[in-house]
Amino acid sequence: MSTHDHSKKSHEIIDSDCLEAFDHVYAYINGEIEDQQTLAKIEHHLSHCKSCFTRAEMERKINQRLKTAKESSPPEVLKKRLKHLIDDL
Ligand SMILES: [Zn+2]
Repeated sequence: MSTHDHSKKSHEIIDSDCLEAFDHVYAYINGEIEDQQTLAKIEHHLSHCKSCFTRAEMERKINQRLKTAKESSPPEVLKKRLKHLIDDL
C-alpha cells in the first residue's frame, strides 16, 4: 500500500469563500450590506473569482429587469383588482 498522501486537494470547485459570497450576493447587489468589512470581503472575492462575479452580474441583471418591469407596468391591474375587492365587500 502506498503511503502517499492525497489529502491536499487544490481543485475544489466551490470553496468556503464562494459559499460566503453566495450568501451575501443578494444583499450586495441590493446595496443592503452595511458592514464595511463584509462589503470589502465580497467585493474582493468578486474581483478574484470569475464564477462568483458572473453569478453576481446575473443576479444584478435579473434584479434590474424586475425593477424595470415593476416601474413600467401601469398599476391599472392592481387598481382593478382592488376595485373588485372593494365591490365584493
Ligand atoms: Zn467565488
